[in-house]
Amino acid sequence: MRKFCKPKALESFVRGLKARRKTIGFVPTMGFLHEGHLALVRRAQKENDAVVVSIFVNPLQFGPKEDYRRYPRDLRRDEAILRKAGVDCLFAPEVKALYPGSFQTEVRVRRLSTPLCGKSRPGHFAGVATVVLKLLHLVAPGRIYLGQKDYQQFKVIERLTADLNLPVKVRMCPIIRESDGLAMSSRNVTLEAPARREARVLYQALLKTGSLIRGGERDARRVQKALETALKAAHGARVDYAELVDAETLLPVVKLRQGSRVLAAVAVYFDKTRLIDNLLIRV
Ligand code: AMP
Repeated sequence: MRKFCKPKALESFVRGLKARRKTIGFVPTMGFLHEGHLALVRRAQKENDAVVVSIFVNPLQFGPKEDYRRYPRDLRRDEAILRKAGVDCLFAPEVKALYPGSFQTEVRVRRLSTPLCGKSRPGHFAGVATVVLKLLHLVAPGRIYLGQKDYQQFKVIERLTADLNLPVKVRMCPIIRESDGLAMSSRNVTLEAPARREARVLYQALLKTGSLIRGGERDARRVQKALETALKAAHGARVDYAELVDAETLLPVVKLRQGSRVLAAVAVYFDKTRLIDNLLIRV
């Protein structure tokens, strides 16, 4: 596996791949890797000649009061994991390599960035869109792989690539979970043991929502209320949002129309750790 920290070195590696007509699959991450990340890597390996993984904790997507400093990091461990997985290239730049002092550009995907996580994390998706656009220019992949775990992020990047005519296909992979249903996340290690036990409430509440709808409930407000109540039953849970939205626009739904696709999405704090999860439901 090749490892690069400088954009120029990565670009010349990519030029080499392109000269040999190799297709490139790209998996952007913030590191502290787990099985969720590796599922993206394996899918990318299946569908491309070469796979590039980036590890970059992007300061632009964290608010001033968020966990940028506390975000778990272990580059040496991540490197070993990626090498063992057979990844071709790791791009792990330092902050000033992507954002020198002169940096001042921001990319914004307007409507999709506003609801859900955008409400409680203003500026978050502009930070995501900006760094992903930079990475897409450097890696120049034919396909980029993203997890459903961050569904809103997937929609934002899908829109970004379409709106700016970027020659990349955006692929979404299913959520990988722990044995009790908790969606895998680098942040899970920051949970104290009691909170970690309670955290399975996210998936359980989402599953209840799914069965409520399958059972014929069509009033979105009632479903949403039930989702919120289920989350609040967990000890120490502070609900940031619990919403039922249209899976394409991410706008709230009122009546659940037969055949429509909705997303049940939740964000819950346990102490300082903010967890998110979601479920796609075909009504
Ligand atoms: P992160 O390092 O948390 O920024 O995540 C990098 C990529 O991995 C994003 O596309 C995430 O959606 C995806 N991802 C994170 N956790 C999971 C998971 N449990 N299952 C599937 N994909 C995930």
